Amino acid sequence: MIKSVRFRITLWYSVTLFIILSLFSFYLYSKLKTSLYDSVDDMLFLKAESVRDSILNFIEEYPLSSSCADFFNCDKRFADFVSHIINSDIKDPNLNLISLSILNKDGNYILRSVNSPEIDFVLKDSLNDLIKGVSVFDGLSVKQKDEEIIYRIYSAPVRIYDKTYIIQAIRTMSTINLALKTTLRNIIIAIPLTVLFTAFLGMLMVKMTLNPINNITRTAKQITDENLHLRIPLPKNRDEIWDVANFLNEMLDRIEKYFLNQKTFIQDLAHQLKTPITVIKGEIDVALKKERTEMEYKEIIKSVYEEINRISELIENLIVLARFSNLENKYSSAKKADLLNAVKKSMDLVKKYAELKSVKLNLIVDGISENFYVKADEFGLIKAISNIMENAVKYSYKDKNVFVRLYKEDSFFCVEIKDEGIGISKEDIGRIFERFYRGENSSNNEGFGLGLSIAKAAVENIGGKITIESEPNKGSAFKITIPKKD
Ligand code: ADP
Repeated sequence: MIKSVRFRITLWYSVTLFIILSLFSFYLYSKLKTSLYDSVDDMLFLKAESVRDSILNFIEEYPLSSSCADFFNCDKRFADFVSHIINSDIKDPNLNLISLSILNKDGNYILRSVNSPEIDFVLKDSLNDLIKGVSVFDGLSVKQKDEEIIYRIYSAPVRIYDKTYIIQAIRTMSTINLALKTTLRNIIIAIPLTVLFTAFLGMLMVKMTLNPINNITRTAKQITDENLHLRIPLPKNRDEIWDVANFLNEMLDRIEKYFLNQKTFIQDLAHQLKTPITVIKGEIDVALKKERTEMEYKEIIKSVYEEINRISELIENLIVLARFSNLENKYSSAKKADLLNAVKKSMDLVKKYAELKSVKLNLIVDGISENFYVKADEFGLIKAISNIMENAVKYSYKDKNVFVRLYKEDSFFCVEIKDEGIGISKEDIGRIFERFYRGENSSNNEGFGLGLSIAKAAVENIGGKITIESEPNKGSAFKITIPKKD
């Protein structure tokens, strides 16, 4: 479960979603907090400043007696005016959250608005700044009835003639803090819930998306060598999974073909071995049945020897075929071989056979080329060319010619082996390169049906190809095309 793709995809995007949501939410939360705190500061500032402006306007209109030690004590009209101002906006003391107070320079309260809590909000450090004429924002945490209440205080100095007083605007942050606390709690609950919900939905979606893969696995599990014909059902949508299924089906096609080839190959091989072994067995049975003359024994041994030679030739051919069919050797040959040399050596190999069959071998080398170097090993070249040459002689009419032509064609060298023999029927042309396949025209000639398979494997091994043109009773032309060595 933990190792499943479904789980891992869901886990990854859930973690990513969680991180993104958390970062985004806490960014918004801190922005909200700052702007709420800023708006409180703005309000406190505006309130205190408007009181200060009113006081200054008042003394400008109604000058106070400068000899007075405390203006709030000795000028009742002034004290009433200031008291009126700080209470003027308060309709309901419980609802109005901003309270205003007037203090003297020593930090003692002179006047408080009706909604002001009976708390000393003077902070000693701030008092020094205020006396110097600097306004100050402060925060104060006060414990009231087991509850921690935070206040925000704005203190602004006001100069009345030669005396300094302090105007204080105070607001409790409880409602704002409560709102922020609730918001934070909601965020903390909402994020995991959202992530869990999307993870659940995502898991379902991933399951639906990966379902075709389960189908593939299920079908793949059913496929054994017994039912290689089974294919994976292709999903409806032509997507990546469709590609995988299609690719696997194509691979199964190739494997099935390979299996069938191997099966046929083994059957053919058994068939090829059966004849000589039956002959050998028969000959030995005859020898064992009763005493034979020396002459008869010699005849029997000769016949057994011929059959063993046949088997040995077959095995040799199979070894060569296996060597050229070995995929690991493909194109790996870095050797350099002279094609002209290989052609000449092949002709030498077939010469005797050609003489025996009264067929004339002719070599034609086209064009003036310095060399006919190809990237191949000579053994493979000779095997391919001599096998085709031998066939040309084998399936030729008596006293006819076989023409071997060597020429250049673009970046390739070509060897064409043309005979004036019995030719190949259209039906056979497509099959003569199959292992153990022998054409209908081969009945009068010995062979295993491996010569062309070996030639094909050897030529393809070095990146070349063989093509045929043939007409029954007129002859055949086999063309070997091999890339030049750079
Ligand atoms: P083999 O010659 O042992 O039968 P090959 O693999 O060499 O096997 O050839 C396969 C078949 O191709 C032959 O049985 C024959 O029918 C046909 N064939 C090959 N070369 C020629 C040719 N030059 N002329 C006519 N038929 C040919």
